[in-house]
Amino acid sequence: MPAIFVGHGSPMNAVDENEFTRGWQDMAQYLPLPKAILSISAHWFIEKNLVTANEEPPTIHDFSGFPKAFYEIKYPAPGSPELASYISSHVKSVSVEPDTAWGLDHGTWVVLRQMCPAADIPVVQLSINFKLSNEAHYRLGQELEPLRDEGILILGSGNIVHNLSMIDMDKRDTGFAWAEDWRKISNDFILKREDDRLIDYETSGEPAKLSVLTPDHYLPLLYVLGASDPDEKIELFNDSCAYGSTSMTSLMVGL
Ligand code: ZN
Repeated sequence: MPAIFVGHGSPMNAVDENEFTRGWQDMAQYLPLPKAILSISAHWFIEKNLVTANEEPPTIHDFSGFPKAFYEIKYPAPGSPELASYISSHVKSVSVEPDTAWGLDHGTWVVLRQMCPAADIPVVQLSINFKLSNEAHYRLGQELEPLRDEGILILGSGNIVHNLSMIDMDKRDTGFAWAEDWRKISNDFILKREDDRLIDYETSGEPAKLSVLTPDHYLPLLYVLGASDPDEKIELFNDSCAYGSTSMTSLMVGL
C-alpha cells in the first residue's frame, strides 16, 4: 500500500471543486482499496501519543468563521479499535495510548471526503506529540511502515509551507519568494530522499524558518517519509503554493 502526504489547505476544500481537490480525487484512483486508513493530522498536536479507538469516531469541526452548514458536515467513517490496539502494541519507541475523546479532525475528513466520499473505510488517527524530537517523529513513522503490508493506508495531512500570519488572499496560486524557495528546496530533498535534511529543516535557513513557523503542519511529512523506503518510487502532486504563505504540495510513495 502506498503512503501519502497531503497538503490540506483550507477546510473549504472539503466541498470545493478545484485543482487541488481534483488532485486528491485522481490520486485516490491509483490506490488499491485500503483495509483501513491511519491518518496523522496536523490538527491533533498534543503532548501525548494517542490513537483514536472509537467504533464511530465523531467528525470534529475544529475551525471557526465558516458558514453554519459547514459545521453540519459529517464524515461517518467507522473507526477500528483493532487497528488502534495493534498500533499501541507494535509501536515500541513511545507509549501509544487508546483514546475515545477525539475523533476525525478536519485535517483528516476534509481530504477523505474528497478521496473517499463513501466514508466506508475505517479510519484511525494518531496524535502528534509536540514533546518529541523531529527524529523521534521520523522513527515513529518507521515503526508504522509494516502496516502498509497489511493493506493500511498511511495518510499524513498538513502543509509543508504553512505560515498563516502572512496569508495574502491576492496570491491565490503563488507564494512569496521564501515560500517558493522552501517549496523547491524541500521538493528536492524529498525526491532525492535526503530525509536527514528534512528532519533537520531548521538548518535550511530563512525560507524554512518562515515556512515552518510552527511544526504541526510539517511533521506529518516526516511520518510518511519514515514509513517508506528510500528506494521506493515517489511522486509529487498538487505541487504549488497558495495564498502566498502556504503550499498544497502532496506526495505519494510506493505506488
Ligand atoms: Zn490545517
